[in-house]
Amino acid sequence: MTDYILSIDQGTSSTRAIVFDHSGSIVSTGQLEHEQIFPRAGWLEHDPNEIWNNTREVIGQALSKADITRHNIAAIGITNQRETTVVWDRTTGEPVYNAIVWQDTRTQSIVDRLADGDLDRYRESCGLPLATYFSGTKLAWILENVDGVRERADRGELMFGTTDTWVLWNLTGGVKGGVHVTDVTNASRTMFMDLKTLSWNESTLADFGVPASMLPEIRSSSEVYGTASASSLLRETPIAGILGDQQAATFGQAAFDRGETKNTYGTGNFLIFNTGEEIVRSKNGLLTTLGYQLGDAKPHYALEGSIAVTGSLVQWLRDNLGILSKSSDVEKLAKTVDDNGGVYFVPAFSGLFAPYWRSDARGALVGMTRFVNKGHIARAALEATAFQTREVLDAVNADSGVDLAELKVDGGMIANETLMQFQADILGVPVVRPVVAETTALGAAYAAGLAVGYWSGLDELRANWKEQKRWEPSMAPEERDRRIRLWKKAVTRTFDWIDDDTP
Ligand code: ADP
Repeated sequence: MTDYILSIDQGTSSTRAIVFDHSGSIVSTGQLEHEQIFPRAGWLEHDPNEIWNNTREVIGQALSKADITRHNIAAIGITNQRETTVVWDRTTGEPVYNAIVWQDTRTQSIVDRLADGDLDRYRESCGLPLATYFSGTKLAWILENVDGVRERADRGELMFGTTDTWVLWNLTGGVKGGVHVTDVTNASRTMFMDLKTLSWNESTLADFGVPASMLPEIRSSSEVYGTASASSLLRETPIAGILGDQQAATFGQAAFDRGETKNTYGTGNFLIFNTGEEIVRSKNGLLTTLGYQLGDAKPHYALEGSIAVTGSLVQWLRDNLGILSKSSDVEKLAKTVDDNGGVYFVPAFSGLFAPYWRSDARGALVGMTRFVNKGHIARAALEATAFQTREVLDAVNADSGVDLAELKVDGGMIANETLMQFQADILGVPVVRPVVAETTALGAAYAAGLAVGYWSGLDELRANWKEQKRWEPSMAPEERDRRIRLWKKAVTRTFDWIDDDTP
């Protein structure tokens, strides 16, 4: 009997395989971290072969922990770190270079060259500003800088993919007939896909110098792309869902309809707001992106607010200041004081992302007095996550004209109840935590299960979503306004820090 769906979550720090049952509960998990390769400051790479080997291994772990075989798996879904770029040879399967990870900033000069003074040149077509974050300039860098790659690409010998595509191609047989496909959500992070036509934009490709023959076929997020190859543990099992990680988390939160939203609190924060079938162009520093597309149905679009530093600020307190022994201790330390003691901590460590997009900003701790102790700093660090989220949500409200009624949350930081209460207070709307916190893997499982009829439709998935806990706002509106005003003032103190002669 095919009782389960297997989800592959190819993340930035690890790859996981999770087996889900019909109620959306986790049956078993396999997980392996991969090496973070830092060749220079600002560069970050992964070894694509290590990622593929780990994928095979974690599938084996998950199946054996659940004591099941491929016969019990109805379909496979894939979710992935987005934007991370792999190029490989279609006849040998060998990558021509390491994967260039989304956080890698080596392509700033390509960004500046293509922008020619206008970072929004491609926004009308793809919904994104020119930035090192997206796949486009990473692929251009590989074509321009790795020996022989330009010629091989022009001869049609190479393939490009984000890590969903790399895993799918290998899982479906690689050089022996692997399918070269991505889904609309991942394609929408390259800068090459036109939001309206959902096809590659030839004039953008020409500007970036990318031959169309390298690109995968763009398909929906929920359909059968192929079956696992004979040599895999899952042979003949259909692979039937692909969603980029943040879109998968949104789907796993059952935020299927226009106006629904989720916020993921991890290393950084990613808020996604479903705009239904409408493409909303942001005037307030958000990205326009694909939400999901189920088979032949019309796609759902989304606005996204990406915040670079949230959970990683807690890691910084732990690793760089040494005032915590583990991340979760931040709550205890923050609770040693009643409030932030007047301190605001703006973690503009790599500039500010949404909604400011200021690469000239750097971090600031303001409002310091002799009274301030490490408890206040811990509290200010947690509050920074809540204030940044508030600003992204204000941008969403301004762009969409819709005021949010509540916020569904997921990710590692939501274990922190002090933060969740403060978040509700600063938003003025309830914050809601679901029972299944592994929403990313669950979303990909949902997309795959829908395609093969394992689940009957969205209503059944909505019924799977269960609230675990809710925080109601309790701060007086005047007090909330006062604190937001101070936060905004603190943010202005981080601007214009980088000068032309800053090394
Ligand atoms: P990612 O998927 O981005 O790797 P996770 O969702 O696993 O991240 O969340 C990990 C992040 O959450 C880390 O940056 C860590 O510092 C932070 N974190 C974990 N537990 C807590 C906690 N109890 N309070 C605040 N932050 C936490």
